[in-house]
Amino acid sequence: MKLNELKAGQSARVLSIGGEGALRQHFLDMGLIPGVEVTMIKLAPMGDPMELRLRGYELTLRLNDAEKIGIELLEAAHVKAQDQEGRRPADHPGLGEEGRFHPKGTGDPLPEGTVLSFALVGNQNSGKTTLFNQLTGSNQHVGNFPGVTVDRKDGVIRGHADTSITDLPGIYSMSPYSNEELVSRDFVINRKPKAIINIVDATNVERNLYLTMQLLEMNVPMVVALNMMDELTGNGGTVDINRMESMLGVPVVPISAAKNEGVDELVRHAVHIAKYQERPLRQDFCGAQDHSGAVHRALHAVSHLIEDHAERVGLPVRFAASKLLEGDRHIEAQLQLDQNEKELLEHIALQMESERGLDRSAAIADMRFEFIEKVCESCIIKPRESREHKRSEKLDRVLTGKYTAIPVFIGIIGLVFFLTFFLIGPFLQNLLAEGIGHLGSLAARAMEAGHVNPAIQSLVLDGIFEGVGSVVSFLPLIVTLFFFLSLLEDSGYIARVAFVTDKLLRRSGLSGRSIVPMLIGFGCTVPAVMATRTLPSDRDRHMTILLTPFMSCTAKLPIYSFFVSVFFPKRAWLIITGLYLLGIVMGILAARLYKKTLFKGEAVPFVMELPNYRMPSARNVLQLLWEKARDFLQRAFSVILIATIVVWFLKSFDFRFNLVANSYNSILAELAGLLVPLFTPVGLGDWRIVTSLICGFMAKESVVSVMELLFSGGVQNAITSLMAASLLVFSLLYTPCVAAIASIKRELGGKWALYVVLWQCAVAWVAALAVRLIGSLL
Ligand code: GDP
Ligand code: MG
Repeated sequence: MKLNELKAGQSARVLSIGGEGALRQHFLDMGLIPGVEVTMIKLAPMGDPMELRLRGYELTLRLNDAEKIGIELLEAAHVKAQDQEGRRPADHPGLGEEGRFHPKGTGDPLPEGTVLSFALVGNQNSGKTTLFNQLTGSNQHVGNFPGVTVDRKDGVIRGHADTSITDLPGIYSMSPYSNEELVSRDFVINRKPKAIINIVDATNVERNLYLTMQLLEMNVPMVVALNMMDELTGNGGTVDINRMESMLGVPVVPISAAKNEGVDELVRHAVHIAKYQERPLRQDFCGAQDHSGAVHRALHAVSHLIEDHAERVGLPVRFAASKLLEGDRHIEAQLQLDQNEKELLEHIALQMESERGLDRSAAIADMRFEFIEKVCESCIIKPRESREHKRSEKLDRVLTGKYTAIPVFIGIIGLVFFLTFFLIGPFLQNLLAEGIGHLGSLAARAMEAGHVNPAIQSLVLDGIFEGVGSVVSFLPLIVTLFFFLSLLEDSGYIARVAFVTDKLLRRSGLSGRSIVPMLIGFGCTVPAVMATRTLPSDRDRHMTILLTPFMSCTAKLPIYSFFVSVFFPKRAWLIITGLYLLGIVMGILAARLYKKTLFKGEAVPFVMELPNYRMPSARNVLQLLWEKARDFLQRAFSVILIATIVVWFLKSFDFRFNLVANSYNSILAELAGLLVPLFTPVGLGDWRIVTSLICGFMAKESVVSVMELLFSGGVQNAITSLMAASLLVFSLLYTPCVAAIASIKRELGGKWALYVVLWQCAVAWVAALAVRLIGSLL
């Protein structure tokens, strides 16, 4: 029987894991290994993917991936009873005993003045961001890892000026499965942080420790921060911290990042182990007796075989050995083994496989989980079922229920849009516009009084205040939208949205996670592009960003409503809806095209955890808003400012660099004149139309106002309804505005930004031509 055949409510034991390469390794890393018990919870409303429960957490995967997993059905009675009642609770649950059971070195500390660099590593949703914010306060900056667009946050621990801490992306394993995992692995190996702070979700130790075990193999000083202790103890669970410390060989500090409990103690431990370079006491978790020691002997044999190579290239030996046995190609290449050693390695692995009866990657994963089970059994008393989990199940009955999921989703997104784009956003925008207007008139009066050169006056007023002002007016929208989104994200709802919509997006080569940025694209492309940060794969991120311009942003709405009300008043709604749909259809076509051409590579499979719903922390949300706002202003400004000045210049001067009184004679008009032949085939060969489209590049709304100006209010007499139709389609599809391009440049680089400008214009041109040809036949 295969996993995809399991019915809701049924349980099964996994017998075999098919598939290959990265996907298979990912299954294993998520704890899906032969022997584990899984319970099918439900299918997504569209029938795919499925939601499973295993090792105390919820996982979603697609049916055709589940098909690769062989299972045997379990009768309800056989399901392993998780009853642990009658066990003695620990004496001091929630106290770390200040590391009484972890011997403290007094050896030679690092020289005074060394910067103690920490890496913060942990699973997704384990509370990394919350802890990072607690640790650093406001001493942090956000950036990218060199060479890849993966978020990177650095900061200084409060009260310890000689420290630096880096928040690594949330990962489940040190396998090079996604960009995030590679980045984290490279960071730990090559950047050599002085110590690791490994954050572990206490409500789900079983899965979280899998990463911990791989980190221990890195042989870097480490402290485990056992987070969410409030939730665990609140439900009657406890952890025997001291025992856990002695089993893992590193300090374990129970904390609650959200409530700022235990964080000071964590810092003391972290600083201590970093200063004294106390490495984990234990890296060897394979028992000599387990399954007649097959894995144990293989691991030790490989360790000795490659010891010299690993030392030469600076890899931790034990880490390299287990990765080699797992069949990790990156590590194999790095170690430069010779032919004979490679053959020896292969023989050792084959011997292990035949003795253990599992293939190599499964054998290693199994060894890790076996140790983890021992740790859990002897150190943790789990509550039978946590309140949070019960609550999540109840919420999920509605939020991912078969008939309710999609209406609720539409309702929530609709509400967010309504609040952002119609209620709160415009209100803030008006305030801001008034403020800027005020400043502008102040500046005008000041310049008037100082008899400033009229060209400069015009630059400041028409250029900078107008242009930058129109872009800054996006800020309230962005902040409001991100406020709601981060609430949804932090609460755990976004993961459900991905679960529900995955099937829809999959046909275009994307996964459910891309739905959110695309939807935001209907509001504004700028935050949409910024929101792609949450996507786990670089390929998905690229593709999603390239598709967002196809969604009709709210700035296009004034263009639609103006032309529709002038030219097609009877069929207004039909046409506006049609335009929105056209954008979506073109986006889908483009996605199909990308899937076959630019982004052929292997899509990251959709295997994702569905975390419990949690109350978002106000602090996280505020911090995020501040970051987004700063980010937008800082980075986008340079591009926008330059673009504004260029357009102002073109529109205010003629070719002899005289200030023109009427933009009729400006360089812009002349240039637009040059472009007219290009626009003639699509029926838009009028320099005034071309000029207004160029101005639309600054802000889409200005297409209408510029056209009104240039046609002196007589647009309806000057152009035909066929021209209007072409113009509408062209405006829908042509290049996004400069603010959007600036954020694309920031995410993907200048080349892609240029590509988007040219590609969108080309698509728009072809579509407008089609409209003209079809229209002239009618
Ligand atoms: P990350 O994905 O690892 O960065 O995790 P976040 O910091 O975003 O936290 C995920 C969720 O867990 C958020 O809703 C937090 O408010 C919540 N959370 C974080 N730490 C704690 C904690 O100590 N206790 C509880 N109850 N919730 C927490
Ligand atoms: Mg986070």
